Amino acid sequence: MGKKVLLASPRGFCMGVNQAIKMLEETISQESGTIYVRKEIVHNVALVEHFKSLGAVIVDEVDDVPEGCAVVFSAHGVSPSVREKANDRNLKVIDTTCPLVTKVHNEAIRFAEQGYAIILIGETGHKEVTGVMGEAPDNIRFIHDEKDIDGLAGINSSKVAWLSQTTLNVDETQKIVKHLREKFPLIQGPPKSDICYATRNRQLAVRNIASECDLFVIIGSKNSSNTKRLAEVARETDALEVMQIDEPEELDYLDFALLSTIGVTSGVSVENNQLERVVSYLRKKGYTHVEERVAVKENTTNPI
Ligand code: SF4
Repeated sequence: MGKKVLLASPRGFCMGVNQAIKMLEETISQESGTIYVRKEIVHNVALVEHFKSLGAVIVDEVDDVPEGCAVVFSAHGVSPSVREKANDRNLKVIDTTCPLVTKVHNEAIRFAEQGYAIILIGETGHKEVTGVMGEAPDNIRFIHDEKDIDGLAGINSSKVAWLSQTTLNVDETQKIVKHLREKFPLIQGPPKSDICYATRNRQLAVRNIASECDLFVIIGSKNSSNTKRLAEVARETDALEVMQIDEPEELDYLDFALLSTIGVTSGVSVENNQLERVVSYLRKKGYTHVEERVAVKENTTNPI
């Protein structure tokens, strides 16, 4: 049997990242002064460098933006305090927050207005988590994993709800929610999963082919939550080597003689040309048979 590459599908860009990139491109071409971007627009080193080369200046906080200038908020969303500060500094805001992140903000606001304690499941220190927590800091308790549930004290168990970050591991989150239901039988949740369609579909696509692969290559930057989850899902499969890379040269040290089938996917912030560079590298290593494996047809017309 010859060497082959299995391409997981769906993979790559999602609706929110597409929107954020388009909005930043339009802003750069239309605005005359320097464009400031609060935090990385999306978690992709190459794309961030590309926008820097076009003149965008990445800042940590709106305090770092000169008064009256244009600032772009990233796809991960911001807390109300950031919006207030931007307003105080008279900044022109271009908000690229993904609508699916806004949905989680709105759920937090709704539950908080009804007097619920909210347990937010997420990745410690992630921008999206910080943004959602800022909507109702007095109501929201953050947890990262099942272990954190034991530390949840002083919550009125008749008025409690859970929400989650959009880019978590679907199976892990289900386990955490099951554990939460055992502790708080009356707990409410979001009407529809907060984990977005793109995250769910890309994890499903990895699971669909992982057991057939000797190596799974996950393309995406190390600080991308979505990409880390794809690597996690691939690792759940026995005896599989998994590598998370930005560029194909990171595969140079591998002994390809030992690898017959290689799975490839890319996170939501990864452009198609980045994936193509990896596939063409593998072709040169003898993986001339490249097969697309579709786990689910993606419908982005109404993903909320
Ligand atoms: S991963 Fe999901 S929530 Fe995040 S930007 Fe993409 S579609 Fe939106």
